[in-house]
Amino acid sequence: SRYFTINDHPQGTPARELFELHEQALPSLAQGEVRIRNTWLSVDPYMRGRMSGVTTYIEPFELNAPLEGAAIGEVIESRDANFPVGTKVRHMGGWRDIAQLPGDQLESLPTFKVPEQAYLGVLGMPGMTAWTGLNRIAEMQEGDNVLVSGAAGAVGSLAVQLAKAKGGTVVGIAGSPDKLDWLASHGIQPVSYRNKNAAELTEALHDACPEGFDVYYENVGGTCLEAALNTLRVGARIAICGMIARYNEETPSPGPGNLAMLLIRRARMEGFIVFDHWAHYSQFLEDVGPQVESGQLDYEETVEEGLERTPDAFLKLFEGANRGKMLVRL
Ligand code: NDP
Repeated sequence: SRYFTINDHPQGTPARELFELHEQALPSLAQGEVRIRNTWLSVDPYMRGRMSGVTTYIEPFELNAPLEGAAIGEVIESRDANFPVGTKVRHMGGWRDIAQLPGDQLESLPTFKVPEQAYLGVLGMPGMTAWTGLNRIAEMQEGDNVLVSGAAGAVGSLAVQLAKAKGGTVVGIAGSPDKLDWLASHGIQPVSYRNKNAAELTEALHDACPEGFDVYYENVGGTCLEAALNTLRVGARIAICGMIARYNEETPSPGPGNLAMLLIRRARMEGFIVFDHWAHYSQFLEDVGPQVESGQLDYEETVEEGLERTPDAFLKLFEGANRGKMLVRL
């Protein structure tokens, strides 16, 4: 098996040299264990947090031990009758080509007519995150005006489409021109955050939706949050899903000076971790699965080829080089 490790806890943006590829011979299977040939690996922004050596809501990665992450693969050897050879499974033994795990750490894939890698993106953890943040945290109502930052990413691109299907004006903040085009082609008002300070971004959001927003779906933090706070309607709700603009900061930058807008607008801001809501995953699949299958909901993927490219795929998340879900195909 070939697998990646990190050799240090990064300060700031991780360097490519942080990641080391190793090879090991796997022991023969113990009773209850399964060997899987991975076909798709997920790289996700939250992995940056696990590299810092600090326990947050999840244990940190150990130095020089195989990294973990969501992956999809096929069972090639099995000592668990629930997962015979040939079964397609999802598990956390990513960042490697061959995984060997106890059967109780594997899930069979749901059976929608979608490519298997969709279960790492639109019908996996990121999709579940978009649905949870919008419906269960921000409690989006029919007709609400919704603002989403990181709007063309894995989470954001589903959040904007779900919001559009039952909303008023939906505005998506993103970086590159191709992402802004993708948003516009899906009926979302695109706004670029690039080269804008908070006042300029506030003005752009105001132009896109003069009434202001009932919901802000937060993926980015910093200037996006500051501008969003200026555009809230009375009773607005903010779901704090992530703040990727801050993950590589060496010293925390000062927060928005206008947090008092929450008071003035009687607004609610709430953080959430998708794993606490996993009991609702089947409800999410029932709701969103058929719409992805039929093409009513669209999703994008950016694919890097080969295990060797996994760190590069991960680092690209912080450059905005991905549209939709960033994946590695083995
Ligand atoms: P994305 O597919 O959105 O990829 C990351 C994107 O973030 C990039 O493409 C880039 O888009 C944008 N970005 C990166 N750096 C910056 C920056 N400095 N300023 C502004 N934008 C930046 O990732 P995911 O959809 O997987 O994750 C989106 C967010 O959701 C993250 O914050 C993540 O941590 C969070 N999350 C939270 C979960 C939870 O349980 N709370 C679960 C899953 C994800 P652009 O070109 O537009 O800049």
